Amino acid sequence: MRFDILTLFPELFTPFLSNGINRRAFESGQVEVCFWNPRDFADGQYRRVDDRPFGGGPGMVMMVEPLSRCLEAARAARQAAAADPEGQAAPVLLFSPVGQRLDHPAVARWADSAGAVLVCGRYEGIDQRFIDSFVTHQVSLGDFVLSGGEIAALALLDAVARLMPGVLGDAGSHQQDSFNPALDGLLDCPHYTRPEVWQGPAGPQGVPEVLLSGHHARIERFRREASLSVTANARPDVLDAVRAHGGLTKQDEQWLRQHQPAPGTPS
Ligand code: SAH
Repeated sequence: MRFDILTLFPELFTPFLSNGINRRAFESGQVEVCFWNPRDFADGQYRRVDDRPFGGGPGMVMMVEPLSRCLEAARAARQAAAADPEGQAAPVLLFSPVGQRLDHPAVARWADSAGAVLVCGRYEGIDQRFIDSFVTHQVSLGDFVLSGGEIAALALLDAVARLMPGVLGDAGSHQQDSFNPALDGLLDCPHYTRPEVWQGPAGPQGVPEVLLSGHHARIERFRREASLSVTANARPDVLDAVRAHGGLTKQDEQWLRQHQPAPGTPS
């Protein structure tokens, strides 16, 4: 899998790709990442990549020419490396508040793909003609404005890398994560580690007894119920979606009825 990143700030990526558990995926080439700087494809002594917007107004706009030459080079390199399936051009993904909000199913689809060209905007954004001509997907990190697409690209790369086989130390580790279909898409349960008793601000705080019991079936049930509780409280929309695709057992529903107040019930 290969991602080609068009960015004016490739150096922002280095610390994230060379640290932490995901480093394995990037260093082994399991997730190959190549950088392309539109500035290297810009004209003139100053290698200008941005200009004032037609029609006036504040800020600068990334120019279409350096960007399209940069994309052309990235595509040629992908082709030379046979990075895409025969006869298929790589998707071109632009990070933008206009895009579909990134979520687990989308990350899982990218993790199962040959990769893509990722375009990071800066300034007020990029010339619309580039978007109209080349962009196949637009992806947003959420309903807020970043100053560049790099953090969004890193979020996608990070989330994809941890889904790669063998990247997380414990192979089953991401199976337990929030939103994973293996867990029926529920949110993760709370976690505890040593010490068994912690002297907190309100006095000694233990951990749920069952976790110390060594009784695997009871521990599993406790975690399932904790996940149900967290999801019902924090993200009732996620619980509804899990229910709609048949992800809740009779036992789950019974537990929810007993432990979650029905809508409109005063607490
Ligand atoms: N004028 C634009 C914001 C441009 S911010 C607007 O108001 O919508 C500069 C760049 O940051 C964008 O081109 C995009 O690549 C990136 N960016 C900003 N917010 C983002 C978000 N929520 N998700 C993904 N990328 C974002």
